[in-house]
Amino acid sequence: MSNAKQSSVNRLKSNDAGRHLISDYWDRIFTANERNAQVVWYNGAALNPIFQAAGLEWAHGEAFAARLSAQRLEKSAQLAAQEFGYVGELCSYARTHLGAALLAKQAREKFDKGIVDNADRDDLAARLPMPNFIVNCYAGCSTGQQWDDFTHRLLGKDIPIFNVSLPFLWGNRADAGYLKGKEWEEASDYVADQLYKLIDFIEVQTGRPFDWEALREGMTHIKQAAEIRREAMAMCANMPAPATFWDWIASVAHINFLPAGPELVDYFSKIHEEVAQRIASGESAIKDEKYRLYFDGIMNWNKLGTLAKLFAERKVAVVAGRYTHKPFWQEPQLIDTDDPIRGMAQHYLLCPTNHGFQTIKDFTKNDCEFYGLDGIVFHSTRTCRAFTGPQQMLARAMKKEMGIPSIFFEGDVADESFYKGELLESRLEAMLEAIDVRRSRNFIASN
Ligand code: SF4
Repeated sequence: MSNAKQSSVNRLKSNDAGRHLISDYWDRIFTANERNAQVVWYNGAALNPIFQAAGLEWAHGEAFAARLSAQRLEKSAQLAAQEFGYVGELCSYARTHLGAALLAKQAREKFDKGIVDNADRDDLAARLPMPNFIVNCYAGCSTGQQWDDFTHRLLGKDIPIFNVSLPFLWGNRADAGYLKGKEWEEASDYVADQLYKLIDFIEVQTGRPFDWEALREGMTHIKQAAEIRREAMAMCANMPAPATFWDWIASVAHINFLPAGPELVDYFSKIHEEVAQRIASGESAIKDEKYRLYFDGIMNWNKLGTLAKLFAERKVAVVAGRYTHKPFWQEPQLIDTDDPIRGMAQHYLLCPTNHGFQTIKDFTKNDCEFYGLDGIVFHSTRTCRAFTGPQQMLARAMKKEMGIPSIFFEGDVADESFYKGELLESRLEAMLEAIDVRRSRNFIASN
């Protein structure tokens, strides 16, 4: 008889089945220069449907840093950035990507001089293909908005760069609110106008007319995939939850930057099907769910497996989170597939770091209510001030207005040296005990 302990994490199988989409994408990126494909480097918003329609290969800075970090291959890039002079407090996404840019540039120069061939580039961080141009479109964070400018300088300033400016949605006018008000309408027009200019810029860079029909087709697939994804997420209000925050984390790449096509729709349809089947058969995402929590904070890519296990072992279903549920084409009804630019511009404004406090508070309250959550875990992401900025106020407001308790732990997106696991464990145990006490009191009061 086997003594192997059954895992308390029951991950969606359809996610595993869709992993090849990610590796296929990166294989294409790493061979782009050899294939003489035109490459754009970009950060922030999901501009990839525009690049795809223009016949480009697109490499997303955060995505590459996250990938290196999730595979524990980030150190060489971080060291290169440190040697160049970037301090450890700089956003670790930016730091890792800038280091990767330095390594990739050095590798390319050696290749051009015939010192090495491409097969010698065994360091993944050095394998990014050199870009033909750079596009920045970053919401809610000054680092994000300057990051590509640093890259432009590192690469010698001869690669063209285009910046799309995304205004912060303060939400403090009388008519303001999520997806409404004058500020929202004006910002939508302002960004849409810049996207048309971006397309003009891309036409100059590629030397060919932009394929509007390809964009409409791509956005039709994205809209379908996003609708299916949102529906599957909403089904997790079911108790016990059929999927968790960690399952949605595993599908972030697909919705955020993989090619838009029928395979994307198929991937999310399979997730939807599995979630529905689990509800029908009573199968839960974690064993013996007892608590349901919200995760606020950007992802700690080094610790994905560690965190999923840590919560599951304490019978905690982390059901939803600001990072997974508030960006990534989350309002598909805004997309007009015949004329998609304005709806795309609106999604770029909807980054969860781009809202004033009132909006963040409103959608956190809605999620906590909708998913029947007991508490919030705040990942106080050390080098990402944009995400951590409103967290203390949010914690206080959620306690005061909804009685929802919370804890904080320190970690980071791509630098594991900031992770404080013991602190998280002890604070989590204390919060779960407090939830038990509150439940007992409520039970006594109701009898
Ligand atoms: S600090 Fe945060 S929001 Fe800003 S670029 Fe880095 S990860 Fe993005």
